[in-house]
Amino acid sequence: MKALIVGSGLAGTMAAKTLRELDRDVEILVFGEERYPYYPRPNLVEFIAGRLPFERLFAFPADWTARQRIDVRLGQRVVRIDPAEKTIGTADGRAHPYDVLLLASGCRAVVPPLQGTERKGVFVLRTLDDAQAILEYFAGHPRVAVLGGGLLGLETARALRAAGGEVRVVEFFDRLLPRQLDPAGAAILKGQVEKMGIPVRLGTATEEIEGDREARGLRFQGGDRMEADMVVIAAGVQPDVGAAREAGLAVNRGVVADDLLRSSVPGIYVAGDAAEHRGNVYGLIPASFEQSRAAAYNMLGIEKPYSGTVPSSTLKVAGLSVMSAGLVHPAEAGYEVLARESRDEGVYKKIVLKDGLLVGAIWMGTRKGLAEVSRLVALNSPIGGRKQDLLEDAFDWSGV
Ligand SMILES: Cc1cc2nc3c(=O)[nH]c(=O)nc-3n(C[C@H](O)[C@H](O)[C@H](O)COP(=O)(O)OP(=O)(O)OC[C@H]3O[C@@H](n4cnc5c(N)ncnc54)[C@H](O)[C@@H]3O)c2cc1C
Repeated sequence: MKALIVGSGLAGTMAAKTLRELDRDVEILVFGEERYPYYPRPNLVEFIAGRLPFERLFAFPADWTARQRIDVRLGQRVVRIDPAEKTIGTADGRAHPYDVLLLASGCRAVVPPLQGTERKGVFVLRTLDDAQAILEYFAGHPRVAVLGGGLLGLETARALRAAGGEVRVVEFFDRLLPRQLDPAGAAILKGQVEKMGIPVRLGTATEEIEGDREARGLRFQGGDRMEADMVVIAAGVQPDVGAAREAGLAVNRGVVADDLLRSSVPGIYVAGDAAEHRGNVYGLIPASFEQSRAAAYNMLGIEKPYSGTVPSSTLKVAGLSVMSAGLVHPAEAGYEVLARESRDEGVYKKIVLKDGLLVGAIWMGTRKGLAEVSRLVALNSPIGGRKQDLLEDAFDWSGV
Protein backbone atom coordinates (compact mmCIF):
# COMPACT_ATOMS: atom_id res chain seq x y z
CA MET A 1 0.00 0.00 0.00
CA LYS A 2 1.16 3.51 -0.76
CA ALA A 3 0.36 6.32 1.72
CA LEU A 4 1.00 9.80 0.43
CA ILE A 5 1.17 12.82 2.73
CA VAL A 6 0.86 16.48 1.73
CA GLY A 7 2.84 18.60 4.21
CA SER A 8 5.99 17.87 6.19
CA GLY A 9 5.15 19.85 9.34
CA LEU A 10 4.09 18.38 12.66
CA ALA A 11 0.98 16.60 11.40
CA GLY A 12 2.60 15.17 8.27
CA THR A 13 5.68 14.02 10.14
CA MET A 14 3.80 12.50 13.10
CA ALA A 15 1.43 10.71 10.74
CA ALA A 16 4.38 9.27 8.80
CA LYS A 17 6.08 8.22 12.03
CA THR A 18 2.90 6.52 13.27
CA LEU A 19 2.29 4.77 9.95
CA ARG A 20 5.77 3.29 10.15
CA GLU A 21 5.31 2.24 13.80
CA LEU A 22 2.12 0.43 12.84
CA ASP A 23 3.18 -1.11 9.55
CA ARG A 24 6.67 -2.16 8.42
CA ASP A 25 5.69 -2.44 4.80
CA VAL A 26 3.51 0.53 3.94
CA GLU A 27 5.19 2.81 1.39
CA ILE A 28 5.28 6.37 2.77
CA LEU A 29 5.84 9.38 0.54
CA VAL A 30 5.75 12.92 1.99
CA PHE A 31 5.74 16.17 -0.01
CA GLY A 32 6.74 19.34 1.81
CA GLU A 33 6.81 22.79 0.32
CA GLU A 34 9.43 24.06 2.77
CA ARG A 35 13.01 23.12 2.05
CA TYR A 36 13.84 22.06 5.64
CA PRO A 37 13.18 18.82 7.47
CA TYR A 38 10.63 18.92 10.28
CA TYR A 39 11.18 21.49 13.05
CA PRO A 40 8.69 22.37 15.82
CA ARG A 41 7.50 25.93 15.16
CA PRO A 42 7.88 27.09 18.80
CA ASN A 43 11.64 26.67 18.21
CA LEU A 44 11.46 29.64 15.84
CA VAL A 45 10.74 31.92 18.79
CA GLU A 46 13.85 30.69 20.59
CA PHE A 47 15.86 30.98 17.39
CA ILE A 48 14.85 34.64 16.98
CA ALA A 49 15.63 35.30 20.64
CA GLY A 50 19.13 33.94 20.01
CA ARG A 51 18.65 31.07 22.44
CA LEU A 52 18.60 28.20 19.96
CA PRO A 53 21.13 27.85 17.14
CA PHE A 54 20.02 26.86 13.62
CA GLU A 55 21.35 23.30 13.83
CA ARG A 56 19.28 22.57 16.95
CA LEU A 57 15.94 23.61 15.47
CA PHE A 58 15.22 20.23 13.95
CA ALA A 59 13.34 17.48 15.76
CA PHE A 60 15.14 14.44 14.36
CA PRO A 61 18.68 13.57 13.25
CA ALA A 62 19.36 14.14 9.54
CA ASP A 63 19.20 10.41 8.68
CA TRP A 64 15.95 9.74 10.60
CA THR A 65 13.61 9.67 7.60
CA ALA A 66 15.91 7.34 5.67
CA ARG A 67 16.17 4.98 8.64
CA GLN A 68 12.38 5.01 8.98
CA ARG A 69 12.06 4.38 5.21
CA ILE A 70 9.99 7.54 4.82
CA ASP A 71 10.54 9.12 1.41
CA VAL A 72 10.40 12.89 1.98
CA ARG A 73 10.50 15.26 -0.97
CA LEU A 74 11.23 18.74 0.30
CA GLY A 75 10.79 21.99 -1.62
CA GLN A 76 7.90 20.49 -3.59
CA ARG A 77 4.41 21.93 -3.46
CA VAL A 78 1.42 19.73 -4.25
CA VAL A 79 -0.73 21.80 -6.60
CA ARG A 80 -3.41 19.33 -7.64
CA ILE A 81 -5.33 16.40 -6.19
CA ASP A 82 -7.18 14.08 -8.54
CA PRO A 83 -9.43 11.78 -6.43
CA ALA A 84 -10.82 9.97 -9.49
CA GLU A 85 -7.33 8.93 -10.67
CA LYS A 86 -5.99 8.70 -7.08
CA THR A 87 -3.02 10.90 -7.92
CA ILE A 88 -1.59 14.19 -6.77
CA GLY A 89 0.32 16.62 -8.99
CA THR A 90 3.41 18.58 -7.89
CA ALA A 91 4.49 22.01 -9.11
CA ASP A 92 7.08 20.43 -11.44
CA GLY A 93 4.21 18.91 -13.46
CA ARG A 94 4.63 15.32 -12.26
CA ALA A 95 1.82 13.06 -11.02
CA HIS A 96 2.17 10.62 -8.11
CA PRO A 97 -0.29 7.80 -7.36
CA TYR A 98 -1.61 6.97 -3.88
CA ASP A 99 -3.81 4.41 -2.20
CA VAL A 100 -4.52 6.63 0.80
CA LEU A 101 -3.81 10.33 1.02
CA LEU A 102 -3.37 12.57 4.08
CA LEU A 103 -3.72 16.33 3.81
CA ALA A 104 -1.49 17.87 6.45
CA SER A 105 -0.96 21.19 4.75
CA GLY A 106 -1.34 23.31 7.89
CA CYS A 107 -1.99 27.03 7.95
CA ARG A 108 -0.59 30.20 6.49
CA ALA A 109 -0.27 33.51 8.27
CA VAL A 110 -3.07 35.94 7.56
CA VAL A 111 -2.09 39.38 6.25
CA PRO A 112 -5.00 41.74 6.94
CA PRO A 113 -6.04 44.19 4.24
CA LEU A 114 -4.03 47.20 5.45
CA GLN A 115 -2.33 49.64 3.17
CA GLY A 116 1.42 49.24 2.84
CA THR A 117 1.87 45.54 3.67
CA GLU A 118 3.96 45.17 0.50
CA ARG A 119 6.65 47.51 1.89
CA LYS A 120 10.10 46.20 2.71
CA GLY A 121 10.39 45.42 6.38
CA VAL A 122 6.93 43.89 6.81
CA PHE A 123 6.95 40.26 7.93
CA VAL A 124 4.87 37.37 9.20
CA LEU A 125 6.25 34.50 11.29
CA ARG A 126 5.21 31.01 10.29
CA THR A 127 8.23 29.31 8.73
CA LEU A 128 11.96 29.05 9.23
CA ASP A 129 12.41 31.16 6.09
CA ASP A 130 10.25 33.85 7.75
CA ALA A 131 12.33 33.68 10.95
CA GLN A 132 15.59 34.02 9.02
CA ALA A 133 14.24 36.96 7.03
CA ILE A 134 13.10 38.66 10.25
CA LEU A 135 16.48 38.20 11.90
CA GLU A 136 18.38 39.45 8.88
CA TYR A 137 16.31 42.63 8.62
CA PHE A 138 16.17 43.15 12.38
CA ALA A 139 19.98 43.42 12.49
CA GLY A 140 19.75 46.88 10.92
CA HIS A 141 16.21 47.82 12.00
CA PRO A 142 15.81 47.40 15.76
CA ARG A 143 12.55 49.34 16.32
CA VAL A 144 9.80 46.79 15.84
CA ALA A 145 6.01 47.04 15.87
CA VAL A 146 4.22 43.74 16.38
CA LEU A 147 0.66 43.80 15.08
CA GLY A 148 -1.35 41.39 17.21
CA GLY A 149 -1.42 40.66 20.93
CA GLY A 150 -2.30 36.98 20.68
CA LEU A 151 0.02 34.09 21.55
CA LEU A 152 2.20 34.42 18.47
CA GLY A 153 2.40 38.22 18.68
CA LEU A 154 3.48 38.14 22.32
CA GLU A 155 5.99 35.34 21.77
CA THR A 156 7.47 37.22 18.80
CA ALA A 157 7.65 40.46 20.79
CA ARG A 158 9.32 38.67 23.68
CA ALA A 159 11.88 37.08 21.34
CA LEU A 160 12.79 40.34 19.59
CA ARG A 161 13.01 42.13 22.93
CA ALA A 162 15.36 39.42 24.19
CA ALA A 163 17.42 39.97 21.04
CA GLY A 164 17.81 43.64 21.99
CA GLY A 165 14.96 45.23 20.03
CA GLU A 166 12.82 48.20 20.95
CA VAL A 167 9.49 46.43 20.60
CA ARG A 168 5.87 47.58 20.83
CA VAL A 169 2.68 45.54 20.54
CA VAL A 170 -0.48 46.85 18.92
CA GLU A 171 -3.72 44.93 19.47
CA PHE A 172 -7.07 45.53 17.84
CA PHE A 173 -9.09 44.09 20.75
CA ASP A 174 -9.31 45.78 24.14
CA ARG A 175 -7.16 43.11 25.82
CA LEU A 176 -4.19 40.82 25.23
CA LEU A 177 -4.71 37.13 24.43
CA PRO A 178 -8.39 37.73 23.70
CA ARG A 179 -8.93 34.04 22.92
CA GLN A 180 -7.20 32.69 26.03
CA LEU A 181 -7.83 35.21 28.82
CA ASP A 182 -10.62 37.17 30.47
CA PRO A 183 -10.29 40.91 31.21
CA ALA A 184 -8.80 40.40 34.72
CA GLY A 185 -6.09 37.99 33.53
CA ALA A 186 -5.33 40.10 30.48
CA ALA A 187 -4.83 43.19 32.65
CA ILE A 188 -2.24 41.39 34.79
CA LEU A 189 -0.50 40.11 31.68
CA LYS A 190 -0.36 43.59 30.13
CA GLY A 191 1.32 44.90 33.26
CA GLN A 192 3.95 42.16 33.09
CA VAL A 193 4.59 42.61 29.38
CA GLU A 194 5.09 46.33 29.90
CA LYS A 195 7.40 45.69 32.87
CA MET A 196 9.51 43.73 30.43
CA GLY A 197 9.95 46.89 28.38
CA ILE A 198 7.33 46.13 25.72
CA PRO A 199 4.68 48.87 25.58
CA VAL A 200 1.23 47.61 24.61
CA ARG A 201 -1.41 49.61 22.77
CA LEU A 202 -4.89 48.05 22.96
CA GLY A 203 -8.14 48.74 21.10
CA THR A 204 -6.25 50.14 18.14
CA ALA A 205 -7.09 49.63 14.49
CA THR A 206 -4.08 50.02 12.21
CA GLU A 207 -4.89 51.48 8.81
CA GLU A 208 -1.53 51.74 7.11
CA ILE A 209 2.06 50.66 7.33
CA GLU A 210 3.66 53.92 6.28
CA GLY A 211 6.97 54.51 4.58
CA ASP A 212 8.41 54.92 1.12
CA ARG A 213 10.01 51.74 -0.10
CA GLU A 214 10.71 50.60 3.45
CA ALA A 215 8.32 50.52 6.41
CA ARG A 216 8.75 53.56 8.65
CA GLY A 217 5.82 53.22 11.02
CA LEU A 218 2.11 52.70 11.54
CA ARG A 219 -0.85 55.00 11.04
CA PHE A 220 -3.88 54.18 13.16
CA GLN A 221 -7.55 54.91 12.72
CA GLY A 222 -8.08 58.43 14.02
CA GLY A 223 -4.73 59.60 12.66
CA ASP A 224 -2.27 58.67 15.47
CA ARG A 225 1.11 57.34 14.38
CA MET A 226 3.84 55.08 15.75
CA GLU A 227 7.38 54.97 14.39
CA ALA A 228 8.91 51.59 13.60
CA ASP A 229 11.67 50.30 11.32
CA MET A 230 10.01 46.95 10.83
CA VAL A 231 6.60 45.41 11.36
CA VAL A 232 5.75 41.81 12.23
CA ILE A 233 2.12 40.94 11.55
CA ALA A 234 0.70 38.30 13.90
CA ALA A 235 -2.96 38.56 13.00
CA GLY A 236 -3.96 34.91 12.91
CA VAL A 237 -3.74 31.98 10.55
CA GLN A 238 -5.76 30.48 7.78
CA PRO A 239 -5.79 26.80 6.70
CA ASP A 240 -3.98 26.04 3.45
CA VAL A 241 -6.84 24.39 1.56
CA GLY A 242 -6.52 25.52 -2.06
CA ALA A 243 -5.83 22.13 -3.65
CA ALA A 244 -8.44 20.39 -1.47
CA ARG A 245 -11.16 22.84 -2.45
CA GLU A 246 -10.34 22.54 -6.16
CA ALA A 247 -10.50 18.76 -5.87
CA GLY A 248 -14.06 19.03 -4.54
CA LEU A 249 -13.44 18.15 -0.87
CA ALA A 250 -15.84 19.76 1.60
CA VAL A 251 -14.10 22.86 2.97
CA ASN A 252 -15.38 25.44 5.44
CA ARG A 253 -12.57 27.27 7.22
CA GLY A 254 -10.52 24.08 7.09
CA VAL A 255 -10.94 20.80 5.24
CA VAL A 256 -13.90 19.13 6.92
CA ALA A 257 -12.94 15.95 8.82
CA ASP A 258 -15.20 13.42 10.55
CA ASP A 259 -14.32 11.57 13.75
CA LEU A 260 -12.07 9.17 11.81
CA LEU A 261 -10.28 12.15 10.23
CA ARG A 262 -11.80 11.28 6.85
CA SER A 263 -12.48 14.10 4.43
CA SER A 264 -15.67 14.07 2.37
CA VAL A 265 -13.85 12.13 -0.39
CA PRO A 266 -13.09 8.41 0.13
CA GLY A 267 -9.41 7.59 0.63
CA ILE A 268 -8.45 11.15 1.60
CA TYR A 269 -7.80 12.00 5.26
CA VAL A 270 -6.95 15.30 6.91
CA ALA A 271 -5.12 16.24 10.13
CA GLY A 272 -3.52 19.20 11.86
CA ASP A 273 -4.05 22.91 11.33
CA ALA A 274 -5.62 22.31 7.90
CA ALA A 275 -8.42 20.22 9.41
CA GLU A 276 -11.79 21.38 10.65
CA HIS A 277 -13.21 18.87 13.09
CA ARG A 278 -16.68 19.38 14.59
CA GLY A 279 -16.40 23.04 13.58
CA ASN A 280 -12.99 23.57 15.22
CA VAL A 281 -9.76 24.59 13.51
CA TYR A 282 -7.45 24.39 16.50
CA GLY A 283 -4.15 25.78 15.22
CA LEU A 284 -2.41 24.17 18.20
CA ILE A 285 0.19 21.47 18.63
CA PRO A 286 -1.70 19.06 20.92
CA ALA A 287 -4.66 18.86 18.52
CA SER A 288 -2.40 18.49 15.49
CA PHE A 289 -0.50 15.72 17.22
CA GLU A 290 -3.56 13.75 18.32
CA GLN A 291 -5.26 14.11 14.95
CA SER A 292 -2.22 13.01 12.96
CA ARG A 293 -1.74 9.90 15.07
CA ALA A 294 -5.41 8.96 14.84
CA ALA A 295 -5.41 9.63 11.08
CA ALA A 296 -2.49 7.25 10.58
CA TYR A 297 -4.38 4.42 12.30
CA ASN A 298 -7.49 5.08 10.23
CA MET A 299 -5.51 5.25 6.99
CA LEU A 300 -4.39 1.69 7.68
CA GLY A 301 -7.93 0.57 8.39
CA ILE A 302 -7.45 0.37 12.18
CA GLU A 303 -10.39 2.33 13.50
CA LYS A 304 -9.30 5.06 15.94
CA PRO A 305 -11.88 7.76 16.57
CA TYR A 306 -10.86 11.28 17.51
CA SER A 307 -13.36 13.26 19.54
CA GLY A 308 -11.62 16.62 19.89
CA THR A 309 -8.92 18.28 21.99
CA VAL A 310 -9.43 20.71 24.86
CA PRO A 311 -7.47 23.76 23.70
CA SER A 312 -4.68 24.61 26.08
CA SER A 313 -1.81 27.09 25.86
CA THR A 314 1.01 28.10 28.13
CA LEU A 315 3.40 30.94 27.67
CA LYS A 316 6.00 32.68 29.75
CA VAL A 317 6.37 36.43 29.67
CA ALA A 318 8.81 38.24 31.95
CA GLY A 319 8.90 35.26 34.28
CA LEU A 320 5.10 35.16 34.44
CA SER A 321 3.72 31.80 33.46
CA VAL A 322 0.30 31.91 31.84
CA MET A 323 -1.85 28.84 31.26
CA SER A 324 -5.26 28.89 29.68
CA ALA A 325 -7.26 25.74 29.03
CA GLY A 326 -10.76 25.06 27.81
CA LEU A 327 -13.60 27.53 28.18
CA VAL A 328 -12.34 30.47 30.25
CA HIS A 329 -14.80 33.26 29.58
CA PRO A 330 -18.28 31.71 29.15
CA ALA A 331 -20.69 34.01 27.36
CA GLU A 332 -23.83 32.05 28.33
CA ALA A 333 -25.47 31.32 31.68
CA GLY A 334 -25.21 27.90 33.35
CA TYR A 335 -21.51 28.03 34.29
CA GLU A 336 -20.01 28.45 37.72
CA VAL A 337 -16.93 30.66 37.87
CA LEU A 338 -14.52 30.90 40.82
CA ALA A 339 -11.48 33.15 40.82
CA ARG A 340 -8.72 34.32 43.10
CA GLU A 341 -6.44 37.22 42.33
CA SER A 342 -3.49 38.80 44.06
CA ARG A 343 -2.50 41.48 41.65
CA ASP A 344 0.67 42.54 43.47
CA GLU A 345 2.16 39.09 43.08
CA GLY A 346 0.82 38.77 39.53
CA VAL A 347 -1.16 35.69 40.56
CA TYR A 348 -4.55 34.99 39.03
CA LYS A 349 -6.37 31.67 39.19
CA LYS A 350 -9.77 31.00 37.75
CA ILE A 351 -11.79 27.85 37.23
CA VAL A 352 -14.96 27.37 35.21
CA LEU A 353 -17.35 24.54 36.03
CA LYS A 354 -20.41 23.16 34.32
CA ASP A 355 -22.55 20.74 36.30
CA GLY A 356 -19.66 20.15 38.71
CA LEU A 357 -17.19 19.30 35.90
CA LEU A 358 -14.09 21.41 35.31
CA VAL A 359 -14.37 22.80 31.77
CA GLY A 360 -11.90 25.68 31.84
CA ALA A 361 -9.11 27.34 33.81
CA ILE A 362 -6.71 30.27 33.79
CA TRP A 363 -3.61 29.83 35.92
CA MET A 364 -1.23 32.77 35.99
CA GLY A 365 1.78 33.75 38.01
CA THR A 366 2.36 30.39 39.68
CA ARG A 367 3.42 27.02 38.40
CA LYS A 368 2.09 25.24 41.47
CA GLY A 369 -0.88 23.19 40.33
CA LEU A 370 -0.53 24.36 36.70
CA ALA A 371 0.05 20.96 35.13
CA GLU A 372 -2.57 19.31 37.34
CA VAL A 373 -5.26 21.88 36.56
CA SER A 374 -4.49 21.67 32.86
CA ARG A 375 -4.92 17.90 33.03
CA LEU A 376 -8.16 18.13 35.03
CA VAL A 377 -9.59 20.48 32.36
CA ALA A 378 -8.52 18.17 29.54
CA LEU A 379 -10.38 15.32 31.26
CA ASN A 380 -13.38 17.51 32.22
CA SER A 381 -12.94 16.11 35.72
CA PRO A 382 -15.63 16.27 38.41
CA ILE A 383 -14.22 18.53 41.15
CA GLY A 384 -17.45 19.72 42.75
CA GLY A 385 -16.50 19.21 46.43
CA ARG A 386 -12.96 20.58 46.14
CA LYS A 387 -13.62 23.52 43.90
CA GLN A 388 -12.83 26.28 46.40
CA ASP A 389 -9.77 24.46 47.74
CA LEU A 390 -8.11 24.26 44.32
CA LEU A 391 -7.62 28.01 44.31
CA GLU A 392 -5.86 28.10 47.68
CA ASP A 393 -2.07 28.55 47.60
CA ALA A 394 -1.71 25.92 50.31
CA PHE A 395 -3.68 23.27 48.38
CA ASP A 396 -1.89 19.93 48.34
CA TRP A 397 -1.68 18.81 44.70
CA SER A 398 0.16 15.58 45.40
CA GLY A 399 -2.98 13.46 45.46
CA VAL A 400 -4.59 14.97 42.35
C1 LIG B 1 6.24 30.69 15.76
C2 LIG B 1 5.15 29.73 16.16
C3 LIG B 1 5.08 29.29 17.47
C4 LIG B 1 4.06 28.41 17.84
N1 LIG B 1 4.00 28.01 19.13
C5 LIG B 1 3.02 27.16 19.51
C6 LIG B 1 2.94 26.73 20.88
O1 LIG B 1 3.72 27.14 21.73
N2 LIG B 1 1.95 25.84 21.21
C7 LIG B 1 1.06 25.37 20.27
O2 LIG B 1 0.20 24.56 20.61
N3 LIG B 1 1.12 25.77 18.98
C8 LIG B 1 2.08 26.64 18.57
N4 LIG B 1 2.14 27.05 17.27
C9 LIG B 1 1.19 26.46 16.30
C10 LIG B 1 1.74 25.11 15.82
O3 LIG B 1 3.03 25.29 15.33
C11 LIG B 1 0.81 24.47 14.77
O4 LIG B 1 -0.38 24.11 15.41
C12 LIG B 1 1.46 23.24 14.12
O5 LIG B 1 2.62 23.61 13.45
C13 LIG B 1 0.47 22.58 13.15
O6 LIG B 1 1.11 21.57 12.44
P1 LIG B 1 0.64 21.16 10.96
O7 LIG B 1 1.58 20.11 10.53
O8 LIG B 1 -0.81 20.92 10.93
O9 LIG B 1 0.85 22.48 10.08
P2 LIG B 1 2.16 23.25 9.69
O10 LIG B 1 3.11 23.29 10.82
O11 LIG B 1 1.70 24.54 9.10
O12 LIG B 1 2.82 22.38 8.54
C14 LIG B 1 2.24 22.24 7.28
C15 LIG B 1 3.34 22.09 6.25
O13 LIG B 1 2.73 21.75 5.00
C16 LIG B 1 3.36 22.47 3.97
N5 LIG B 1 2.42 22.59 2.86
C17 LIG B 1 1.26 23.32 2.80
N6 LIG B 1 0.64 23.15 1.64
C18 LIG B 1 1.40 22.29 0.92
C19 LIG B 1 1.30 21.74 -0.38
N7 LIG B 1 0.26 22.02 -1.15
N8 LIG B 1 2.28 20.91 -0.80
C20 LIG B 1 3.32 20.61 0.00
N9 LIG B 1 3.49 21.10 1.25
C21 LIG B 1 2.54 21.93 1.70
C22 LIG B 1 3.69 23.80 4.61
O14 LIG B 1 4.73 24.46 3.89
C23 LIG B 1 4.12 23.37 6.00
O15 LIG B 1 5.49 23.08 6.06
C24 LIG B 1 3.12 27.96 16.88
C25 LIG B 1 3.20 28.42 15.56
C26 LIG B 1 4.20 29.31 15.20
C27 LIG B 1 4.28 29.80 13.77
